[in-house]
Amino acid sequence: MLPDSKVDNLIAFDRKHLWHPYTSMTDPLPVFPVSSASGVRIRLCDGRELVDGMASWWAAIHGYSHPRLVRVIRDQAGIMSHVMFGGLTHEPAVELGRRLVALTPAGLERVFFCDSGSVAVEVAMKMALQYFHATGQQEKHRFLTIRSGYHGDTFHAMSVCDPVSGMHHIYSGVLPEYAFAPRPECTFDQAWDDRDIHALRELIENRHREFCALILEPVVQGAGGMRFYHPEYLKQARLLCDEFDILLIADEIATGFGRSGRMFGCNHAGISPDIMCVGKALTGGVMSLAAVLASDRVGRGLSSGSPGVFMHGPTFMGNPLACRVAAESIDLLIDSGWEKLVSRLAQGLKKGLSPCAAIEQVNDVRVLGGIGVVELSQPVDMVRIQQRFVDHGVWVRPFGKLVYLMPPYIIDDEDLAFLTAAVVDVVREEVSA
Ligand code: PMP
Repeated sequence: MLPDSKVDNLIAFDRKHLWHPYTSMTDPLPVFPVSSASGVRIRLCDGRELVDGMASWWAAIHGYSHPRLVRVIRDQAGIMSHVMFGGLTHEPAVELGRRLVALTPAGLERVFFCDSGSVAVEVAMKMALQYFHATGQQEKHRFLTIRSGYHGDTFHAMSVCDPVSGMHHIYSGVLPEYAFAPRPECTFDQAWDDRDIHALRELIENRHREFCALILEPVVQGAGGMRFYHPEYLKQARLLCDEFDILLIADEIATGFGRSGRMFGCNHAGISPDIMCVGKALTGGVMSLAAVLASDRVGRGLSSGSPGVFMHGPTFMGNPLACRVAAESIDLLIDSGWEKLVSRLAQGLKKGLSPCAAIEQVNDVRVLGGIGVVELSQPVDMVRIQQRFVDHGVWVRPFGKLVYLMPPYIIDDEDLAFLTAAVVDVVREEVSA
């Protein structure tokens, strides 16, 4: 444990100099200094322990400091932390590629490694553009997406985020203006209503000659509202893309590796996209790595015409440390019997969060796989609610009207009950504050 004076120093420097996600530089939200994390516990510098409800934004599916992941990263650091991927290759990249090709929906065979989720989305969008350029259909150069989506914070990723939550007005004139279909309204559990796909169909029928790709988050819309939509929508979207020669890009950065109850969101609909992005839980939350998988058709098409090569190659592409830990994380996921873990998580979340439904200012309580959402009618007071969660011994970070949980899969029943009870208590306190 750090002495108090050191912790005070650390906070003072952080507050003055370090930018945190989605915060002001001059009036930042408070931050809690962490000394270590293991299993489902995050240890604060003052000695308090918090049960983790966030898996560090979908990533730490095996909890923190998992011995198998720590071991491979130590081993690999002693062998080779990094070499450039231009002109060189290595076992960690090949072994991870092998696992990804086997695990992802059929037909995704060409793997591009990159640094983060947003970059993966940029890469996927470039692939779609370049595919139609190389195959002589330059007029197909615009993207189509659906409202309430989120795909990352870099410019082109932002251009396909929901225009309201993505704050497009700030960047108008810089962000390209792409086509947005209304968000799907039929929820995951409802009976499918065919009218839900009409608006997308109409847009595609009218403008397919200009569309190169439809990009969406399969089944779970994450940061754009934590919404679970009907898998039939995805199935129909796949059919429309086939009918009108539009590539389907599945952004599985949040949903990938079991979080929604299936290995990938696409598995709920039994479809294969043409291009798929994975990230976040890819390394079990140990370090940043993402991958873009493309079908053979995209890989070949893109490489067939001028310039014949894909113009992207990050410095840390295929980083051996990240690839090695990602391959081990996938093995660990499979060895862990993840389907049982996630369905147990779903049951615990349903049971534990259900009392929230009786709170007047709660609009909806929903659970899919290892994701539990309590949607309030008003945005929460971030500073107040964050402090309350910490006082209750849990790490939960709401945004807007949404208080949500996505704990590591390894959480046991007792910790899960503790976590959900804290959410029920804190939401009750919040709405009566
Ligand atoms: N796509 C989705 C669906 C995401 O949830 C995120 C991250 N929240 C991203 C893309 C961007 O990933 P990253 O933060 O690693 O750039």
